[in-house]
Amino acid sequence: MRAQSLVHSPMANSFSYHNGWLHCEEVNIKSIAKQVGTPFYLYSTRKISSQFAIIKQLIGSMDARIYYAMKANSNLAVLRHLHNLGAGFDVVSGGEFQKAIKVGSNGSSIIFSGVGKTKDELELTLKGNIKQFNIESFPELLALNEVAGQVGIRAPVSIRVNPDVDANTHEKISTGRAGDKFGIPILRAAEFFQLANQLEWVEPKGIDIHIGSQITSVDPFKKAFNSVAKLVMELRQGGHVIDFLDIGGGLGIPYNHECDTPFAIEEYFKLIRDIINPLDCEIELEPGRFIVAEAGVLVSEVIYEKSAERNILIIDAAMNDLIRPTLYSAYHPIVAIKKSSTDQPLRIYDVVGPVCETGDTFTRGRELPSFNNGDLLAFLNAGAYGAVMASEYNTRPLVPEVLVGGSHWQVVRERPSFQAMIEREKIPDWL
Ligand SMILES: *Cc1c(COP(=O)(O)O)cnc(C)c1O
Repeated sequence: MRAQSLVHSPMANSFSYHNGWLHCEEVNIKSIAKQVGTPFYLYSTRKISSQFAIIKQLIGSMDARIYYAMKANSNLAVLRHLHNLGAGFDVVSGGEFQKAIKVGSNGSSIIFSGVGKTKDELELTLKGNIKQFNIESFPELLALNEVAGQVGIRAPVSIRVNPDVDANTHEKISTGRAGDKFGIPILRAAEFFQLANQLEWVEPKGIDIHIGSQITSVDPFKKAFNSVAKLVMELRQGGHVIDFLDIGGGLGIPYNHECDTPFAIEEYFKLIRDIINPLDCEIELEPGRFIVAEAGVLVSEVIYEKSAERNILIIDAAMNDLIRPTLYSAYHPIVAIKKSSTDQPLRIYDVVGPVCETGDTFTRGRELPSFNNGDLLAFLNAGAYGAVMASEYNTRPLVPEVLVGGSHWQVVRERPSFQAMIEREKIPDWL
């Protein structure tokens, strides 16, 4: 595949202006806004397909499969689409497992990750005959052994090792350094395998790593892959069977198309081909963000344009709908739904939501086209870790989601009514 075909542009093939209005595939976003109301998330089926296809193509003939990390975006419609494309799923909770089953996946296509799997979750997924448990501690291994004995199903296990590499990503999403809460120290892996082999109801079969998220350089992957390759050979020399190698996710995307260089995905796959593939394991990939981030936007309306000390755009989306700027100081491009004319002056804006916290600020001092009350705008690259992290803080309804496919679109998660939200809570009769 030629590098050119992978070049990311802010609206690569799925979001573009036609007749002055931003469209998602063939649908005018303005018309969706009119019917659904704002704010809402909007996803492009086509963009999800094309991101998935990039990875599939780079896998080529290697014995490797994509287990989409559904925590990035777990809307059932998105999951069904990825299932149809042939994805397996990496789940991190009993709820995510249920969603995978709901869209037609089966146990053999599901990997269960995470540091704190409860016994209830272990039982649920064991009975679902999942492909693999990625185990992160000895107490967890003992718990799995116990539950597996009760259920009478031997549990296939991969050991998540912490290779102690710094992924050079945001502090809150770096997971592969010694001292991070994930995995077991790589130096203790052999000892761990020995202990695991003595347990009756678990079957250690593989190694797993995941060093962080939104990683933009291939160097940390290279370090981690080299450590893991060395480990696999050592373990085999020690008589252990290593059939599966789960290399996690973490592939970054260019959030700011003007200054971020796209993740060198061809180089990443060259590393897999050179370092991982020769180990002759079944390779498991767990990309999340890479597949869905650029396929989604968050559409919002300007409530007030307030100019005093600074120009402030108060919009109807808030930190409860998209928390990435607040949580990770993340950057999202902001574009007008109605294309601004080139002779229109730019203004310097702070863009904020209505929530009663200063942290509810999407950006400060951003140069944008001038907006008026009632104008629509979109945050780009919001398809991953957007809707899934939304809450009802300030008793704001959970933000709805819409999926576009060609000229079709459908609401795939509805905005709850105030009544539905309020009815979930109960006032005890002794009050
Ligand atoms: C979050 C996570 C992923 C996906 O990470 P992305 O950065 O979205 O690709 C994969 N595997 C595990 C274990 C994770 O926790």
